[in-house]
Amino acid sequence: MNKIKNIGVLTSGGDSPGMNAAIRAVVRAGIYHEVEVTGFIRGYEGLINNDFVNMDRKSVANIIQRGGTILKTARSEAFNTVEGRKKAYDNLKANHVDALVVIGGDGTFRGASVFSKEYDFPIIGLPGTIDNDLEGTDFTIGYDSALNTVVDAVDKIRDTAESHDRLFVVEVMGRDSGLIALRSGIGVGAEAIMIPEANMDVDDILHKLDHSRQDKSSKIIVIAEGDEAGGAFAVAEVLQKKYPQYDTKVSVLGHIQRGGKPTCMDRVLASRFGVAAVEGLLNGERGAMVGQINREIVFTPFDHATKHIDAEKVSSTWLKLIDILSF
Ligand code: ATP
Repeated sequence: MNKIKNIGVLTSGGDSPGMNAAIRAVVRAGIYHEVEVTGFIRGYEGLINNDFVNMDRKSVANIIQRGGTILKTARSEAFNTVEGRKKAYDNLKANHVDALVVIGGDGTFRGASVFSKEYDFPIIGLPGTIDNDLEGTDFTIGYDSALNTVVDAVDKIRDTAESHDRLFVVEVMGRDSGLIALRSGIGVGAEAIMIPEANMDVDDILHKLDHSRQDKSSKIIVIAEGDEAGGAFAVAEVLQKKYPQYDTKVSVLGHIQRGGKPTCMDRVLASRFGVAAVEGLLNGERGAMVGQINREIVFTPFDHATKHIDAEKVSSTWLKLIDILSF
C-alpha cells in the first residue's frame, strides 16, 4: 500500500516562466490522486522556517498564464548545512509531509540529493530554468518563454537598427550556456552569435561580418553573457572601430528574459512534468528529475541531472545554420 498522503512542493533557485504551471499541475494531480499538497514558501527556506500553505484546487486557479512563482523562490544558505537540513526534516515530519516535489535548477537537485540520502526522503525534481542546460531533458521549463521574449525584443531592435544603419550587439542570458543565444540568434536572423561553447573571439565575428552580405542596412550580433570575449561592450568597441559606417549600439536584455507569460510550450511541458512527478512518487520513483527526451517522460537520478555542455545541443551544424542564413 502506498504511504504517501501529503506531498510538499517548492520552487528554488532562479525563477523561470512556467513554474506556476508546474505548481498547478502538482496540486491538481495530488487532488486527483487524493493526496494533500503543501506549498513551501521561498524554496528550502520555507522548509527550514516552517513557512507553508495548504494548497487546494482554488489556490492554483488562474495561475497557469502567470510568470514568476506564487510560492516565491530563494537561495538558502542554511540548507547547505547539516543543522538547516535537520530543521527542514523535523518540520516536514511535524506537518506529516511524506514526499517533496522541488522545482528548480541543478543546485536545487544537488540539495535534494543530499537531503534525500541523509533522511531517506522521497523527492522528485522538475527542471525549472531558462538556460536549458540540464542533462536528462531535451527542454527545461522556461527556456521557450525566454527565447520568445528575446525574439520579441530583438525584432524591435531590428526595426530601429534598420532605420538608422546600426550594428547592434545584443547580450542575452546564459552564463555557462549559449543555448538561448543560439536559438534566438537563428530566430531573429542574426548575422552572428557568440557563445561560450564555441570558444570564439572578436576576430571570428569580424571574419563572419566580412563574409556576410555587405548591402544590409543593419546587423545584429547576439552574444551570451558568459561569452569569454569580454562582454557585449568590449565586442561593440572593436566592431565600431572596424565598421565606422555603422553606428554600433549595445543592448543588454537582462532580467526581462526571466519574466512574462509562459509560452504554450512551457505550460504544456510544466503540466506534463507536474503530473508525472506526482504519479512517479506514488509509483515509488524518488531521487530523480522528471524530463522529456524524444517526447517521452524519463526520470534521471539527481546525480546525473547536472549542468552540462551537450555537443548535440550546440553542434557545429547549429552554428553553421547561422553562417548559411546570414550569407
Ligand atoms: P539556477 O539554475 O537558476 O541557479 P539552481 O537550482 O541551480 O537554479 P542554486 O542557487 O544553485 O539554484 O541552488 C538552489 C539551492 O539549493 C541553494 O540555495 C541551496 O539551498 C541548495 N543547494 C545547492 N547545492 C546544495 C548542496 N550541495 N547541499 C545542500 N543544498 C544545496
